[in-house]
Amino acid sequence: MRKSSTMRRNDRKIQGGEDQDQETRLEYLPIFLSVADQDVVVLGGSDGAAAKVRLLRRAGARVRLFARTLGPEMGELARVGQVALAGDRPTVDGLMGCRLAFDDGVDTDASAFLRARAPGLGLLVNTIDIPQACDFIVPAIVDRSPVVVAISTGGASPALAKLVRQRVESVLPAGLGRLARALLACREGVKRVLPTGRARLRFWDSFLTDARLDRLARCPVEQMGEQVAEDVESALSGTSDIDPAGEVTLVGAGPGDPGLLSLAAAQALRTADVVLHDALVSREVLDMVRKEARLISVGKRAGGAAMPQDMINRLIVTHARRGVRVVRLKGGDPFIFGRGGEEQAHLIAHGIHPRVIGGTTAALGVAATLGIPLTHRGVARSLRLVTGALGEGVEGSGVRNWGDLADPETTLCLYMAGRAVAEVARGLMAGGLSATTPVAAVWSGCTADQEHAFCSLGELALWTGDPRNGHPLLFIVGAVVAFAPAWKESRDQSGVQTG
Ligand code: SAH
Repeated sequence: MRKSSTMRRNDRKIQGGEDQDQETRLEYLPIFLSVADQDVVVLGGSDGAAAKVRLLRRAGARVRLFARTLGPEMGELARVGQVALAGDRPTVDGLMGCRLAFDDGVDTDASAFLRARAPGLGLLVNTIDIPQACDFIVPAIVDRSPVVVAISTGGASPALAKLVRQRVESVLPAGLGRLARALLACREGVKRVLPTGRARLRFWDSFLTDARLDRLARCPVEQMGEQVAEDVESALSGTSDIDPAGEVTLVGAGPGDPGLLSLAAAQALRTADVVLHDALVSREVLDMVRKEARLISVGKRAGGAAMPQDMINRLIVTHARRGVRVVRLKGGDPFIFGRGGEEQAHLIAHGIHPRVIGGTTAALGVAATLGIPLTHRGVARSLRLVTGALGEGVEGSGVRNWGDLADPETTLCLYMAGRAVAEVARGLMAGGLSATTPVAAVWSGCTADQEHAFCSLGELALWTGDPRNGHPLLFIVGAVVAFAPAWKESRDQSGVQTG
């Protein structure tokens, strides 16, 4: 028995090895070949062959064309002197000295001759559109010369290659080629200042951030060279960490479920260099951040401040000035009890205009999961998002007259009310709200840890403390709570009359 199980394990190992080989095996060797001032054979005068002549000419090759007839495009290339006919049929002499040949496969006799002679002449043949008759294939390309992206599906599907090409096209800025040329022009200067290869590698790695690439590639044509040289110079002299164009995005992460992130927020997380996040941001959302990005927790929870706000503000500015993409990631929406307004003001005062991507605030996320319509025709005509945190956290300090909020047709969502909620409930009743007004309490809404409980406002006034301390807790107060499918069930069980 033991022996056979060992054997099975070994079998699996071998199998695994084969699988891995299969996965890593390349169908073709991707290379960029220099053909400048070299002769390349083209067989056939079709439009397909003409496309290859154009490509070869762009790469600086001379073309030896063998064709019996010229199609319209090849005819035009011949007319403008891009190609000259070497003969109507290939000959051994005509093929000699060439390393590459393109064949459109139209003249079958010529093709057969080429295929028979090619190996002896060391000639690699590409038969256009017939992958199985090719020593090499030509990839689809995204051309931002000198930056060129080559795409191959190993001949499996030219349509798929085209689709991939379109996607790559859409993410590469148009000015990328110009940027590459401008960088090339700076290389000698950098070499003089940083003589060792390693130092240069480090320099270019830290110089070329996503944010800088986007900014420079957007430069107007006539300013690009100068701007790149200026950036390189200040980076070399160590002043580049004062980058006025630091990019900051205030992003709302929603209440927890990554499905509630906006597409814009997800995109910002995928491209961030540094992410400063609150404790409220869920692990699942943090998992969406680009793997190479630096995650910094500035964890702040009501009552247990981990990092003072002014320190957070300074930290955002410090990172932004390094020219990296900074995301300030906040639970819910940045502008709802998120101090996003303060961070925005601080950044603007330091010359950085942040982009703001809104998020689903806890009240909206929580109401949706419980099926509570926050407004409802004839029941609730307005919605108030209120902080229940009393000034300085002193209970009973009377900073607010809660009775002012009492309106049977307004749904109240109480944020950060854990400690003060009994007092809030008493105030609301004193202001005229019925003790039977339904209340929902939701802990860690829209996360795997979500829990909820229902009660009446009268019961809430007797609240003595949060049984799940440490989990964010939101209260929804108002007649609409009774529309939650789980409400009736819970009332039936507890036997409390809600009227
Ligand atoms: N900017 C956030 C609110 C931050 S204030 C937003 O728009 O949602 C922190 C308070 O928000 C918590 O005390 C709690 O009342 C509420 N809260 C945030 N996330 C929550 C969640 N997942 N479940 C329940 N309440 C939440």
